Amino acid sequence: MIAPLLEIEGLVRHFTARRSVFGRPTATVKAVDGIDLTLQAGQTLALVGESGCGKSTVGRLILRLIEPTAGKLRFDGRDVLGFDEKQLRAFRREVQIVFQDPYASLNPRMTVQQLLAEPLALHDIVPAEQRNDRVAELLALVGLEPRFAPRYPHEFSGGQRQRIAIARALAVEPKLIVCDEPVSALDVSVRSQILNLLTDLQQRLALTYVFISHDLSVVKHIANRVAVMYLGRIVEMAEADELFANPRHPYTRALFSAIPVPRPDARRQRQILEGDVPSPLSPPSGCHLHPRCAYAVERCMVERPLLVSDAAGHAAACHRWPELPAAPALAAGTAPSPSLERLMEKFARKTGVPAPAGVDTL
Ligand code: SF4
Repeated sequence: MIAPLLEIEGLVRHFTARRSVFGRPTATVKAVDGIDLTLQAGQTLALVGESGCGKSTVGRLILRLIEPTAGKLRFDGRDVLGFDEKQLRAFRREVQIVFQDPYASLNPRMTVQQLLAEPLALHDIVPAEQRNDRVAELLALVGLEPRFAPRYPHEFSGGQRQRIAIARALAVEPKLIVCDEPVSALDVSVRSQILNLLTDLQQRLALTYVFISHDLSVVKHIANRVAVMYLGRIVEMAEADELFANPRHPYTRALFSAIPVPRPDARRQRQILEGDVPSPLSPPSGCHLHPRCAYAVERCMVERPLLVSDAAGHAAACHRWPELPAAPALAAGTAPSPSLERLMEKFARKTGVPAPAGVDTL
């Protein structure tokens, strides 16, 4: 079996939110509360969850932009947490990050030429006399014309800026890119273009992605494997197709049912979570979801459910998932309502074109 490119074991990151007058921590946020992940080279792992669930913190921990409180992190068989400064510098060439906001992640005082040439010089990727050619290649790689190189970031649209940010990440020829909500700040019309670009680059350059998103509908199109996070813990993890066809955890089901259906008459059984997201300063005992979960029993309040995987690699952290009612159809779409069926029959009678047997609504 091929060794994973990235291995995370028992990763924990706590932030001190308050201290006493003597400097002792009195309130701690458990942003990441003991997670295990593995990622094979050339694959995309999506981290999904609501804002504040700890997914972006995991992204920063992978790059060692912040230090973990506990846990292990291995990249390409090497212990990342044991790296000295020189090794860390070399590691930062292998692992890059693309941030959510392309407006904030590019220095407005630098031209595109300077933005892309900077990492080439910093890591000594190509000799100085070849840098202009390499910048032109990078721009072409992300679908921008090389003549844009002398321009400043403010002269570009949001989608074009995100392409520049991706080109800057690619400049150092990384193996792994952490994409932290890379399309959330973009217009809906350009999101799919950036997702297609990322998929295309992955195939051409054999890249590996950790794709962080709050939006399951985005993840569906790019991820091989999906990990769902809630209050610092992974509550479900599976291959993307399996997760979309057969979500097990009540939280995953609620996330799925919150995806808007682009047809007002499509029927979908909503899985509503009760109450608000608890404060991460004092998360509920046992299963963090229990105050909001319709299936909670006494055991859920006192015992943390472990992430248990079946033989196919579908894991869920829920005491009750085997006995929960079957999840409503999610991947295959929903059945058309009677009124739509009548309309479709009418259309078929008028035009002679047969009505479709079912409509995919996701
Ligand atoms: Fe709900 Fe209990 Fe499962 Fe948590 S462990 S998701 S509270 S049923």
